Amino acid sequence: MKINLKRFTGITFPRGVHPKYNKELSVEKAVEILPTPAKILVPLLQNIGAMSVPVVKSKQEIVYGEKIADGKGYISASIHSPVSGIVQKPTVTTLPNGRHVPVLPIKTNENHIEGNELWDLIYGGDWLKKLKVNFTSEGITEKIYNAGIVGLGGAAFPSHVKIAFNYKNTVDTFLVNGCECEPYLTTDYRLMVESPESIVAGSLLAGKTLNTNKIYICIEDNKPEAIKAIEAAAKETPVKVVVLKTKYPQGSERHLVRAVTNRIIPLGGIPVDVDVAVNNVSTVSAVAGAVLRGNPLTHRIVTVTGRGIKNPKNIMVPIGTQYKDVIEYCGGLTDDAVRVVSGGPMMGFAFTDFDMPITKGTSGITVFTKKDIKARKETACIKCGRCVDVCPMRLVPAKLAQAVRHRDIELAQKYNILACMESGCCGYICPAGIPLVQLIRMGKAMIVSDKKNKEKIDS
Ligand code: SF4
Ligand code: SF4
Repeated sequence: MKINLKRFTGITFPRGVHPKYNKELSVEKAVEILPTPAKILVPLLQNIGAMSVPVVKSKQEIVYGEKIADGKGYISASIHSPVSGIVQKPTVTTLPNGRHVPVLPIKTNENHIEGNELWDLIYGGDWLKKLKVNFTSEGITEKIYNAGIVGLGGAAFPSHVKIAFNYKNTVDTFLVNGCECEPYLTTDYRLMVESPESIVAGSLLAGKTLNTNKIYICIEDNKPEAIKAIEAAAKETPVKVVVLKTKYPQGSERHLVRAVTNRIIPLGGIPVDVDVAVNNVSTVSAVAGAVLRGNPLTHRIVTVTGRGIKNPKNIMVPIGTQYKDVIEYCGGLTDDAVRVVSGGPMMGFAFTDFDMPITKGTSGITVFTKKDIKARKETACIKCGRCVDVCPMRLVPAKLAQAVRHRDIELAQKYNILACMESGCCGYICPAGIPLVQLIRMGKAMIVSDKKNKEKIDS
C-alpha cells in the first residue's frame, strides 16, 4: 500500500467540529517544575491492561527512579518511583474515570532531584548531535519496557507492546501525533516548543524499531511555534512535518491516519491494519529518554487551565502527585469555579475528590466557571441531524441515546454503540442539550455489566 502525501499542509478528515479552543490561557506559559510534594500516591493501574504488581514493602526506603511495581501481564507496564522516600501502607483510590485502584503512598524525603536538574535529565540538553541509531528493534523495545512507558496522549496503552506488535507487522509509515486537538490543553504544544529535539530523537528511534524512515510529525495549523521548532530540530534528519487543518478530533488515531495517508482503518481495527503506526509526541520523547539516557517514566507535563483556576500553568509533576497539590500550586480555584475536569472539555472526566492522584495518562486539569457552563435546559430531539453530520465515526448518536434511554442494549449494539470513541462532538453540537455522550457511556456500561451477569450465570 502506498502513502499518498500529495501535499503536506492543510489536510484533514471528513466530519468533526470546530469548538472554541481556549488554549490562549496557558499556551504561552513555559513549563514550570512542581516542587516535590511531601506525599504522593502512586496508582498500581495506570495503563490499559493488567495491574502492576508491587515489588516494594511498606516502610521500605526507596530512591528516585527505583522500580516499585512490575508490569507482569502481557499488556502491562512497570512503575518507577518519581521521588525518594519511604513507602507507606497501600490504600485504595478512585480515579476520575470511576475506576477503583490500589495505590502505594510514598512519603518523600530530602533526596530530591528538582528544578532545572530534573528538567535537564528528562527533557533538556542535546539529543541529536551524538545520536547514532544503532540499536536493534528488540533492544529498543526492551528499554521501553524497562522504563514503563505507556501512551501519554491519554490512551495509556503500554508502548513496548504497541511497538513490538507494529514491527512484527508490515508498517510502512510512522505518524507522530502532535495534534493536541482537545480544547484548552497545551501539554504537547509546550513540549514541542521546549524540547523538540527529544521528540525528533524519539521519533527516529521508534521509526528504527518499525523499520521505516517514513516518519511524519503531525501538527495542527493553530500551533505555528511548534511547527517551527520541530522543523528546525528535524532539519538534518529524515523526519518530516505534516501540517493539518485545525479540527476536532484530528488527534484521534483513526482520523489522523485518514487525513495523512487517506487509508481507512476498518471498524474495530487499529492503525497497523493499514500499515501505519501512531505514537504521541510526549510518548516518543519518553522513548528517547529511556533509550538514550536510561530514564524510567517518572514525571509528565500537565496543563492546569480554565477560567476557574487562578493562575493557569503547564507543570512538570511527579506521577502520583495529588490533584490538590497541583491546584494549590496554581493559586487555587476562583470563587466562581463550578466544575473540575481531568483532561479537556470534550473527552475529560469531571471529579470532585482532589485527593486523587495524577497518573501517566493525565494530560490536564480544566476548571470551568459558572459562566463557562451555560446551563442548557434539555428539550426533545428536534431531529435536526446535526449529531449525525459531525460524528467522526459515522454513527447516529440520536438513535444510540434513544436506545439507551429505553434500556434496549441489543438495539444500541445494532447501532454500533461500541464503535463510539466518545469524542463528544454530538453533545457539543446538539441544539436540544441532550447529554448524548453521557447516555452513550451509560449504554456501554450497561453492556459490560450485562456481559458480566451472563458470565456469572454460565459459571
Ligand atoms: S456518537 Fe460517539 S463518536 Fe459519534 S460524535 Fe457522539 S461521542 Fe463522538
Ligand atoms: S443533534 Fe440533538 S436534536 Fe439534533 S438530531 Fe441529534 S439528538 Fe436530535
